[in-house]
Amino acid sequence: CGIVGYIGYREAYPIIIKGLKRLEYRGYDSAGIMLYNGKNLQIAKTKGKVSDLESKSSDIAQSAATIGMGHTRWATHGVPNDINSHPHVSNSGNLVIIHNGIIENYEPLKKELLNRGYTFSSDTDTEVLINLIEEVKKNEKLKLGKAVQVALNQVVGAYAICVFDKENPDEIVVARLGSPLAIGVGENEFFIASDASPFIEYTSNAIYLEDEEMAIVRLHKPLKIRKIKDDSLVDPYIQELQM
Ligand code: GLU
Repeated sequence: CGIVGYIGYREAYPIIIKGLKRLEYRGYDSAGIMLYNGKNLQIAKTKGKVSDLESKSSDIAQSAATIGMGHTRWATHGVPNDINSHPHVSNSGNLVIIHNGIIENYEPLKKELLNRGYTFSSDTDTEVLINLIEEVKKNEKLKLGKAVQVALNQVVGAYAICVFDKENPDEIVVARLGSPLAIGVGENEFFIASDASPFIEYTSNAIYLEDEEMAIVRLHKPLKIRKIKDDSLVDPYIQELQM
């Protein structure tokens, strides 16, 4: 269970793959990656090791994408297989999520979404969350960050998440409760990871999200961190890492 995200000017694929390898010590059964190349989502995922993911993603390894995210899964809901691996995409095909943790109340949420016509291709709690975010976004006509916040306030469980919207591809929304999440702040680039090891070679400035905090990670914008519950702004505390 690990997360790596990148948004900046470098090729995202090698940063994410290398980062996932650094997080292998956390244990996992599957791995996946999503890149956005300015036109299309490029997604590869597989049961097995990060090296299996590399073999399976050779077609996108040369992608010029400078935004993307990767995941190693430790299955809690749904057996380890290719389909249950992350990333998961919402029904519209626009929203993408990677998630470490557990959505404990995913059953009633899933039932409600099924009633509203949503379909699911995996057995995961995570696919429920991304469609809940989609439903909230559509229904209440919200921007992604707000929709993630409203959806998370309906969720019981634990999470570190990264959410990407193909329609608004210059940002990644991140949030945490119970599972770790760090943001590496570079010059004109951001890194996201379960711990600093995937980005320590690129930047020594890290922000560790606290529980119940979320952030919209957007290029050329100061990072804003908010409390998920009451929407209050939190002063970002940038820690200097020892290289
Ligand atoms: N609950 C999610 C799943 O089973 C995420 C597991 C994890 O932390 O990797 O897919």
